[in-house]
Amino acid sequence: MVFVSTRGEEKVTGAQAIVQGIAKDGGLFVPEKFPQVTREEMESMLGMDYPERAAFILHKYLDEYDKDELLSALKKAYSQFEGGDAAPLVRVENGMYMLELFHGPTCAFKDMALTVLPYLLRKGCDICGIKEDILILVATSGDTGKAALEGFKDAKGIKIMVFYPDDGVSKMQKLQMCTQEGENVNVVAVRGNFDDCQTGVKKIFASADCKAKLKEKNFLLSSANSINFGRLAPQICYYFSAYCDLVTSDQIRMGDKVNFTVPTGNFGNILAGYYAKRMGLPVGTLVCASNKNNVLTDFWAKGMYDSKRPFYKTMSPSMDILVSSNLERLIFELSGRDAALTKERMQQLSATGRYSIRAEELKAYKSEFYAGCTNESDTVDCMYEFFEEYGYPMDTHTGVAMSVAQRYEEMVEKDPKAEKLPMVVVSTASPYKFPQDVLYALTGNDVKDSFKGIKRINLLTAMKVPEPLKAIRYKPVRFKQVTSPEKMFDEVLKFI
Ligand SMILES: *Cc1c(COP(=O)(O)O)cnc(C)c1O
Repeated sequence: MVFVSTRGEEKVTGAQAIVQGIAKDGGLFVPEKFPQVTREEMESMLGMDYPERAAFILHKYLDEYDKDELLSALKKAYSQFEGGDAAPLVRVENGMYMLELFHGPTCAFKDMALTVLPYLLRKGCDICGIKEDILILVATSGDTGKAALEGFKDAKGIKIMVFYPDDGVSKMQKLQMCTQEGENVNVVAVRGNFDDCQTGVKKIFASADCKAKLKEKNFLLSSANSINFGRLAPQICYYFSAYCDLVTSDQIRMGDKVNFTVPTGNFGNILAGYYAKRMGLPVGTLVCASNKNNVLTDFWAKGMYDSKRPFYKTMSPSMDILVSSNLERLIFELSGRDAALTKERMQQLSATGRYSIRAEELKAYKSEFYAGCTNESDTVDCMYEFFEEYGYPMDTHTGVAMSVAQRYEEMVEKDPKAEKLPMVVVSTASPYKFPQDVLYALTGNDVKDSFKGIKRINLLTAMKVPEPLKAIRYKPVRFKQVTSPEKMFDEVLKFI
């Protein structure tokens, strides 16, 4: 399959797209055409388990990878997930479902892709005949960093370095990263917010000078951030799998449309849902849920992306993002795949922090997406009420999604013309990953210590505590380095 850059003419294979991470012109790689999944193929997926479904979908994009080998890599990756099913669908009530993507080694949905990416990357290097070692640089708002470290630890021929905002991640997230094991890993805090980290990493990627210095040491740069197609592709699979589960459990009939609500930050997860739709999955509306950092909600309302606004720290730190990198892939589609226009808009974004799209572009997509945002107190109320009503505890990010999903459902209810469809809310983290905020939402009680929070939630909900979070408590802190955004590359050189 051929991939093209959103900003120009570069054409590469899937393996190249994954190894390179980002196109030479700064654009993101997108498939030249969306591969299609027929109804017969969907029927055949019903009887498959999660790794088989994922291999089926992934191979449509990555046809130069050996199918059997891909399947065994996926089986291995998803065998690390607790509970036997990597992406279980939980029925809350008729027409309302949770897609739980947090049963992996770091208890957040990033594991869905980052347990698979090391294989895709290593194999991609073999396919492309690359001899250098790979250096992975990651900017993280919390969950990506840990999931990437865990995925890549002790991978042969690969080093990984993670930058996170010093004050922008939860205590548990920080502890998860700073206790990371593995000989090939490094973790550094940056004085700044997530966007500062992301900009710093992007600058290194864009700098010929940095690349030359790395090349001298026999390193090739690659990214594990959600702009890498190797991150996006495994995420497409769970939309198909959730749909199959709805059919096999007689909640819908094959061909019926389903809505999804996705708690959104960098626009990677929800974009994967959009890709699934373009491949033929019967999706109605994709509900894009934001917290107080509602740049995407404003974008859908006004047709202007405006990142020049106050940045808020919230209880859902993985969504505290003002520049959603993956939106570029959607902007490219909105424009009718106009690379020159996409490039111009992205240049405007980096120069002025803003760009606008045309009214027709916005209108054409209004039926596919609904964007909503919520605030901290509505999120807490929603988490509390949902637990009271259904006994289902959710994490703060999922709380944002549920709060927006409920608002969307109320709107549909009131609109006689609107189609009432089943709703799948994508649940992106274990409630135990954000124990203090979750405990506060469920009981109004504050505890000072994450582990106390875990214990109290466990007593309250009887939900099993994930093994990896239990283990952290006894691990030594290995990484304490703090740097400024300007000094990030110096840290890289020190590391390699
Ligand atoms: C990363 C993350 C998100 C946001 O996903 P995007 O793909 O960046 O939109 C939401 N919730 C959790 C728990 C996350 O880790």
